[in-house]
Amino acid sequence: MISGTSVKVTDVTSKCYRVANMSQAYVTLATNDGYAIGALVLGHSLRSNNTTRDLCIMITPTVSPSIKALLHGVFNKVISVDVLDSGDSAHLSLLKRPELGITFTKLHCWTLTEYSKCVFLDADMLCVQNPDELFSHPELTAVTDIGWPDCFNSGMFVFVPSRDTYAKLLRVAEEKGSFDGGDQGLLNTYFTDWHRISFVFNMVASATYTYLPAYKQFGVNAKLIHFLGSMKPWQHRYDVTSGSVQTPAGYHHLAPYLNSWWAIYIRLVQPGIPEMVAQQLAGLHLGQESIQEGLARWERGEPDYLGRDSFANIQAYIDSKLKSGK
Ligand code: UDP
Ligand code: MN
Repeated sequence: MISGTSVKVTDVTSKCYRVANMSQAYVTLATNDGYAIGALVLGHSLRSNNTTRDLCIMITPTVSPSIKALLHGVFNKVISVDVLDSGDSAHLSLLKRPELGITFTKLHCWTLTEYSKCVFLDADMLCVQNPDELFSHPELTAVTDIGWPDCFNSGMFVFVPSRDTYAKLLRVAEEKGSFDGGDQGLLNTYFTDWHRISFVFNMVASATYTYLPAYKQFGVNAKLIHFLGSMKPWQHRYDVTSGSVQTPAGYHHLAPYLNSWWAIYIRLVQPGIPEMVAQQLAGLHLGQESIQEGLARWERGEPDYLGRDSFANIQAYIDSKLKSGK
């Protein structure tokens, strides 16, 4: 136990999906509704691949109550972590390293000492085959990062919860910071002797086209798909009529996995969302294009001539600017 620690943690166990092996869990994290939706799809995908382990999610108070209610239906534990308000050593570390905000929240997974072993999964992942054999590996087991293969990618890692390790990680965070500004840099600084396992346990979706022959050879073994990068599955547009995702240029290779993600979302997540919340979700651009996406598409030279970028809309925009004198 870290001296003076009093982590503000609320812990509610859902009765749904209670499983035999209570001592091991998949753990994920969501600090907003978008990632929480991602976590819901991830949770369902693990359930439908018959995992025998618990599902646990750490959330911050910025996740809306209605989404939190949905999380209780899928996850065995929904743990509220508020580093900003905790008044503990994590908060003190955060004051020294404010740039590592979400990283400190992620580090909280080492405090889950009710579990003997866990697998952390980013909320932007999707399970396509049962990955439970991960639990037979020691801390810290992970997959190489495609950007710098000497490092592991921190979207998936096997770890053993421990207050001692947690305290050491906080110390490293304070003293050395993170060389990439996030959890991956920090964890790679601390865990230098990590164990490498197959890429199929954290298959970055873009690998499907960056090394196509390897994907054709090994892709069939993929267990966990990682939608790494700036555009997450819930930010793509889904066409209800065709029942498929409208993939922008540069994203076509992801279509099969994005469609699998959306199939779970439409079938298992969306029906549970009350009307009022559905309207809030529209603000997350679920099935709709955000202003940023629209700008990015425009900059890629792919205007939506019949929709948002139609002549009438552009004319109306110019008129409004002329009238306001800007
Ligand atoms: N995350 C979060 N809120 C954020 C950013 C990240 O909850 O605003 C969590 C979430 O679990 C996410 C993980 O941290 O999957 C890592 O971030 P991300 O997946 O966006 O990074 P990438 O894998 O694209 O490098
Ligand atoms: Mn990720």
